[in-house]
Amino acid sequence: MRRFALSSIRKGSAKYVEVERILTSGVINNQLQSPFRTVSTHFHYPGYRQSFQRGASHGDFHSTSFSAGEAALGEEKGKKSAELQGVDNNLPPTKEGQKPRVVVLGAGWAACRLLKDLNTKLYDVVCISPRNHMVFTPLLASTCVGTLEFRSVAEPVRTIQPATAREENSYYFLARCTSIDTEKKQVVCEAAGKEEVPYMKASGIFTVAYDKLVIASGAEALTFGIAGVPKHAIFLRDVNDAKAIRSKLLLNLAMAEIPGVSDEEKARILNCVVVGGGPTGVEFSGELSDFIRRDVLQKFSHMKGKVHVTLIEAREILSSFDVRLRQYATSHLEKAGVKLMKGVVKDVDAEKIILSDGTEIPYGLLVWSTGVGPSKFVKSLPFEKAPGGRIGVDEFLRVPGQEDLYAIGDCAGYLESTGKAVLPALAQVAEREGKYLAVALNRLAKAGAGRAGSKLQQGPVAENPFVYTHLGSLASVGSYKALLDLRSDGKQQRGISWAGFFSWLVWRSAYLTRVISWRNRVYVAVNWTTTFLFGRDITRL
Ligand SMILES: Cc1cc2nc3c(=O)[nH]c(=O)nc-3n(C[C@H](O)[C@H](O)[C@H](O)COP(=O)(O)OP(=O)(O)OC[C@H]3O[C@@H](n4cnc5c(N)ncnc54)[C@H](O)[C@@H]3O)c2cc1C
Repeated sequence: MRRFALSSIRKGSAKYVEVERILTSGVINNQLQSPFRTVSTHFHYPGYRQSFQRGASHGDFHSTSFSAGEAALGEEKGKKSAELQGVDNNLPPTKEGQKPRVVVLGAGWAACRLLKDLNTKLYDVVCISPRNHMVFTPLLASTCVGTLEFRSVAEPVRTIQPATAREENSYYFLARCTSIDTEKKQVVCEAAGKEEVPYMKASGIFTVAYDKLVIASGAEALTFGIAGVPKHAIFLRDVNDAKAIRSKLLLNLAMAEIPGVSDEEKARILNCVVVGGGPTGVEFSGELSDFIRRDVLQKFSHMKGKVHVTLIEAREILSSFDVRLRQYATSHLEKAGVKLMKGVVKDVDAEKIILSDGTEIPYGLLVWSTGVGPSKFVKSLPFEKAPGGRIGVDEFLRVPGQEDLYAIGDCAGYLESTGKAVLPALAQVAEREGKYLAVALNRLAKAGAGRAGSKLQQGPVAENPFVYTHLGSLASVGSYKALLDLRSDGKQQRGISWAGFFSWLVWRSAYLTRVISWRNRVYVAVNWTTTFLFGRDITRL
């Protein structure tokens, strides 16, 4: 048997991808530790039996031994042996000669725009997020009913910032940050998928040192302390939520057809309740009523006239939109069969919602969309908070009193001392903050101040403070109709506001051009076309 020493596998090659898949899938049964811990293991790759190693200083996998005899046929299938040569489970501070490291917490609108625009010739980047992709949230409601497929609205971090896939010292870690040590300039994290891989021996807890840290960890759905909400309702925040909604909706339709289901039970199972009349709740209700009118009629004909959508809002729907648009949306939704109810939810149990006036609303599907507030992680951080509990930032998006620390997106808000109002939790705010900060950080690095603790000789982080100008709001209400509100500051200002088919064309074109990648643009266009031609997909996978 011949043995070869350290033959490296070319990055991006089919073999590299397969090795990475095997290592990260845990197929090798217990040897994968944190990606920057040196791991050496033997496993079966078709045609080979090799030992692969990946360490903090290697962005690549290397084969350290190679058995030509075994390689020939890939014999001894399933025979795995492994040895661990763990050295260090931390990503230590960068040294002279290395690029400074920007650590980004999150993979949402703010983080991904920042990652995309950071100059990776100047910085190494590390993205830490329990979600390995960005979600194009404005089109998420369409995936719940099958107008769009889930992958059309998700873009992997490794594609958005290819350095995390290719560069030696840049990474994406599927993990959540649990605390920040501003003295040591490091974040403490835990692997997000640990509970699904019981064969993984490593603790999954690790630290990453930063030169610059950007918190972009978003917000959490508000539940107003109603215990039954997280238990029984589905939030519409993520692709997994959309999957859960679609699955429950199709299951309810199927269950209602089962012989023996009473009329009363059928009515409950087929009542889809949406709580929250903001843009997300309205868009989802519109999509759902459209699905019921166009597809349920044809594909679940026994359910004709039995599926209902109820939208509950404490005040009035779409309160941030122009009054004419609100009226249009109200009458459009009512015509489309959505039952609009004014009320404050007091309690939620497995089968019904109880309003503060005692009204009981039985439901089969409950979607909760009542706005967002600070997450547990944000609440736990010992930084000064903005009104509403977000991480307080100054007009340059720095966390005051903390060196090399920034916060952007839904998790951040201007401190009261800036005299500025907290910006709305919107993708357009988050994205523009990410873009602004990337320019500012690139500028710092070019001026030689990219390393932790270095000060720019003149002026602040960016040439000018961050300024947000609202470009307008769009919301689809289903049945080829949408609302377009181009008033400059949302509430009082005069400006253009349209509703109807033309606005729907603008809505579709705007989002088609804004979808993150060409791949997803093609997916979205194809999904819209197939839905138009053949109706929505109703397979429950
Ligand atoms: C269904 C829906 C429709 C919407 N439609 C619109 C619209 O049409 N127009 C508009 O302007 N806005 C819209 N929004 C709002 C918009 O999506 C948010 O304002 C935007 O996503 C905020 O971006 P963000 O980067 O701050 O947070 P997010 O996009 O929420 O991303 C937060 C990221 O942080 C990660 N994270 C969480 N905790 C941790 C942790 N402890 N450590 C590391 N990472 C962590 C999360 O996994 C996630 O990747 C919509 C939102 C939803 C849910």
